[in-house]
Amino acid sequence: MFLAIKKFILAKILRRKYYRTGKCNACGKCCRQIYVKHYKHVIQNEEEFKKLQYLHRFYTYLKVIGKDETGLIFECTNLDPVTHKCKIHKNRPGICRRYPQEELFTMGGALSDDCGYKMEPIISFSEILEKTRKRKISSNP
Ligand code: SF4
Ligand code: SF4
Repeated sequence: MFLAIKKFILAKILRRKYYRTGKCNACGKCCRQIYVKHYKHVIQNEEEFKKLQYLHRFYTYLKVIGKDETGLIFECTNLDPVTHKCKIHKNRPGICRRYPQEELFTMGGALSDDCGYKMEPIISFSEILEKTRKRKISSNP
């Protein structure tokens, strides 16, 4: 019942297509390969990034480690390189607490193979198939 309500809120109110299952196993991989998206734009150069750093403390934690066809790639300086744990876990920003979100996919990203979370479609493929079948029957009685 709780899951049904959660799915309803995510799909109908928040217009989401996926919901999160599983839990974090603290592998730290998502803190090492980060793209930064501001509104619909993925940050491409350090000039753009410097301006963003005034907007939220999360950005002040990041350092550039590379660039690819999507944009700049960052690593978080709060990740302990030995334990792979977050050094500010209790005070980590909301964006870290909410990870992963479906925006990850719209940026061409994916969950790491080791990630304990999964992003499940709110409406399964079989449900979509069933709805399409019913629609066809009602339009061609
Ligand atoms: S603040 Fe902590 S959880 Fe957030 S990206 Fe950095 S290391 Fe990861
Ligand atoms: S990649 Fe997944 S399991 Fe690993 S730290 Fe990030 S959220 Fe947790």
